[in-house]
Amino acid sequence: MFDSIKKKFSAEGDETVSSTAKPDISREKSAELYEKAKTYFPGGVNSPVRAFKSVYGTPLFIEKGDGCQLWDADGNQFIDFCCSWGPLILGHNHPKVREQVIEVMKNGMSFGAPTALENELAELILKHNKYIQKLRFVSSGTEAVMSAIRLARGYTKRDKILKFEGCYHGHSDSLLVKAGSGLVTFGETSSAGVPKAFADETIVVALNDKAAIKTAFEDFKRQIAAIIIEPVPANNGLLLQEREYLQFLRDICTENGTLLIFDEVISGFRLGFEGAAGYYQIKPDILTYGKIIGGGLPVGCYGSSVEIMAQVSPDGGVYQGGTLSGNPVAMAAGIAQLTELLRSNFYRDLNNKTAEFVEAIQRFATARNYKFKIFSIGSVFWFAFTDKEAIRRADEIDPAGMEKFKKLHRELLNRGVYLGPSGYEVGFISSAHTKIDLEKAKRAIFDSLEVVFNGK
Ligand SMILES: *Cc1c(COP(=O)(O)O)cnc(C)c1O
Repeated sequence: MFDSIKKKFSAEGDETVSSTAKPDISREKSAELYEKAKTYFPGGVNSPVRAFKSVYGTPLFIEKGDGCQLWDADGNQFIDFCCSWGPLILGHNHPKVREQVIEVMKNGMSFGAPTALENELAELILKHNKYIQKLRFVSSGTEAVMSAIRLARGYTKRDKILKFEGCYHGHSDSLLVKAGSGLVTFGETSSAGVPKAFADETIVVALNDKAAIKTAFEDFKRQIAAIIIEPVPANNGLLLQEREYLQFLRDICTENGTLLIFDEVISGFRLGFEGAAGYYQIKPDILTYGKIIGGGLPVGCYGSSVEIMAQVSPDGGVYQGGTLSGNPVAMAAGIAQLTELLRSNFYRDLNNKTAEFVEAIQRFATARNYKFKIFSIGSVFWFAFTDKEAIRRADEIDPAGMEKFKKLHRELLNRGVYLGPSGYEVGFISSAHTKIDLEKAKRAIFDSLEVVFNGK
């Protein structure tokens, strides 16, 4: 059997698979910078996952990115699959984005007054997205979601929101809440500093569980302002939902006068220009975007129907504002990036490239009976150490797999491939990843898997 497998893969240019761990890359400069950083920032970082707590070694300090490549302070070079956690769908330092940003910056950075660029980005989005009629720009995904929740509460005049265990919606108080024990629970705060009273307004249920949703609507009749979900949950592994389940949420929300919020901060402009709503053809009431929308600069947005958006100040009573909201530099980056995404076949090519990459790795692992599965959708993928055919709920993830991920991460860094430093994070492929880059990455992944499963 082994011979036939070998033949199959040699056809793809993979004859040499070594199962020996590689020596660690040099991290002298990164380690030095990290020591300094620890004196300035909690944990040495400005966002927790960057601290490499779930993988080996100190965080790499990045000096430069270009296309799909990253360079760290020690001069190590990597093919990057983190892509700044999703925003860089065109890769690093895309010339069109860079040039527009530089051009706009020549006229100043921020005015705290309207500019034509805001209209331009809004028009670009609204013209090609049938799921929203009006929007508001903010400066992060967290802000977008926080504002969407306030809007839902203001519009429905109800207080409770329902979220899912295994979805992440940024770090605002009402959403830093996790499930307690039981089918339908009041949330328990998942961060110190979140008042219990806030958590009491958030109901938390497991994904892919219709009974729990029905119970929640019975227990909290006419109290639930909104259900919020990542239609493609991609912050706790990739917990792909079935369309039918999302449709069920749509229908039960409509029946109960509850708004459905799709948090598309990752999936928006990623699965296609219309994100997951377009992919599944399900119309939520409010949508939130972030990451890709800003072309690498801080932009978020929430949008809805004309009627619902009329509740937002200054038209309506739901207050929300921002000093740097819609600032021209960030708008310029967004315009440049989204314009590229609208080119014909952009998503078809990107998604096909990803599918080929993912299928080749899966074939490799399956042929060797590794307990390893890649889940993917569009240009998002997740490496899971499991033999399950599908993982749709957070509690179906085997935490033991994370030890294997830790090894894989190290072997990949040592072979020039950069993944986000946690086994719960997904990877992204950009239009800058060429077939040759993906071929190289694939070989590094084959070798690394060999080490993880059989290595010394
Ligand atoms: C990243 C993310 C957020 C938070 O966005 P920030 O820009 O980090 O504040 C919210 N929701 C989802 C689904 C995300 O992936």
